[in-house]
Amino acid sequence: MNIKISNIAKLPTKYGDFKIQSFKENDKEHLVIFKEPLLNDVLLRIHSECLTGDALGSLKCDCQAQLHHALKLISKKNGMIIYLRQEGRGIGLFNKVNAYELQDRGFNTIEANHQLGFETDLRNYEIVEYILNYYKIKKINLITNNPSKIKSLEKFEVLHRIPSITPKNQYNLNYLEIKKESLGHFL
Ligand SMILES: [Zn+2]
Repeated sequence: MNIKISNIAKLPTKYGDFKIQSFKENDKEHLVIFKEPLLNDVLLRIHSECLTGDALGSLKCDCQAQLHHALKLISKKNGMIIYLRQEGRGIGLFNKVNAYELQDRGFNTIEANHQLGFETDLRNYEIVEYILNYYKIKKINLITNNPSKIKSLEKFEVLHRIPSITPKNQYNLNYLEIKKESLGHFL
């Protein structure tokens, strides 16, 4: 892996004051948002970029709610969000828009990706291991509903799983149902 690491900067937000650092993996500019002290039982959220949810407040998914929930939790205690630049479960923004158009025509989230020739989930979490090692973090409390994220952290000690808040609405019901039934999420 060819990784470049930025300096650490302050980031005041409406949820509190954080610090940020970027890890550049080839063309992917990941971000770490954290609040010290980073003890050995760090509250951790691994969040994959979702421009439509995170920035635009899309109701098709629960990404923004999960991101803001994690920011609130970390602001009260301490911990870290690893923000990974793998949009649309790894297929990228352009393909995600095409997948959304297929969803408009009745395909579910998994079927739409398959229609476009992609696997169900192309995300990978290798960089997470690199970042956690960089900060010398060994024991974590993971904020997630996703069992594959816990599995991807088998080299670390996951002390607790903290459920991630996922409010339901008429647009994301099917999306959440697929997460639960087909991907085994704890919802
Ligand atoms: Zn999303």
